[in-house]
Amino acid sequence: MSGPAMPHLRDLATAGWAAVADLLLPRACAVCERLLDRGETGIVCGRCWARISMLPSPRCERCGHPTYAEKCRWCELLPPYVRAARSVCWATGETGLGIVHALKYQGWHRVADEMGVRMSRLDWPVDVVDERAALVPVPLSAKRERQRGYNQTLHLAHALASRWSVPVWDTVLTRTRHTETQTRLTPGDRLRNVSGAFSARTSARNVLRGAHVVVVDDVVTTAATLNACAAALCEGGARVVSFVTFGRAPALGDRW
Ligand SMILES: [Zn+2]
Ligand SMILES: [Zn+2]
Repeated sequence: MSGPAMPHLRDLATAGWAAVADLLLPRACAVCERLLDRGETGIVCGRCWARISMLPSPRCERCGHPTYAEKCRWCELLPPYVRAARSVCWATGETGLGIVHALKYQGWHRVADEMGVRMSRLDWPVDVVDERAALVPVPLSAKRERQRGYNQTLHLAHALASRWSVPVWDTVLTRTRHTETQTRLTPGDRLRNVSGAFSARTSARNVLRGAHVVVVDDVVTTAATLNACAAALCEGGARVVSFVTFGRAPALGDRW
C-alpha cells in the first residue's frame, strides 16, 4: 500500500540539529547583520570580508605602508630596532572598522580567528620569517580587561600563532598603568599617553634575550602603543621587534 512519503527518521534528526544549531549560533553577520548563508561558518559574512579595503601596492618593504616615494614617511614613526610592520587592511569605513568593533566592543572574540587567518597570510621579509621567536599581544590594563572580559589582542595572537607555529608570550609584558583610550587623542598626546605604560617582567629576561618578537595589536594609528611595547621589550632584552595588526589607520595623503 502506497501512501504519502514518510520523512526518514534520520532526515528529521538532521533537521532537528540544524534548528538547534540555528538557535545556538548567530545567524546574522556581526558587521552588516545580513543573515548568514548555511555555508558561512564564521560570524562575519563573505560580502563583508570582500568589502574590506586592503592596503594597496606598492608598499614599503619595512613598514608595509603604501608608498611610491623613495623615502617612506610612515617609517619615520618607527624606532630603529623595529624591523618590520604589517597590517591587513585600512581600519576605515563600515566594514574595516566594523570587524574591529565586533572584536573589541561587541564581545565577538570568535571573529579573531577569521582576522588571524588574513593576518597569517601577510608577506614578510625573509629574515622576519626566519627569526620570529614569539608573538606578544599588547596587554590591556587590568581595569579594561575586567570591563571587556577578555584581551582581544591575545585572541588575535593565538589565531596567528597556530598558523605561524610560534608561541604566544602573553606574560612577558605588563601594563604598568591604566591609560586613557587613544581614539580621540592627537599624535603628540598619544605618545605622552602611552610612553612608559609598559614594562617587561624581570622574569622574562631569559626568554627575551636576543629574541626577535612580533607584537600584535588590532589597529595601528601612530604606532605610539606598539612603539611603547617595543621599547619595553628591548629594555627587557629583546634584540628586534616587528609589528602585526589587522587594521591600519590611513594618514593624511594616503591612497585608499
Ligand atoms: Zn556582513
Ligand atoms: Zn616604511
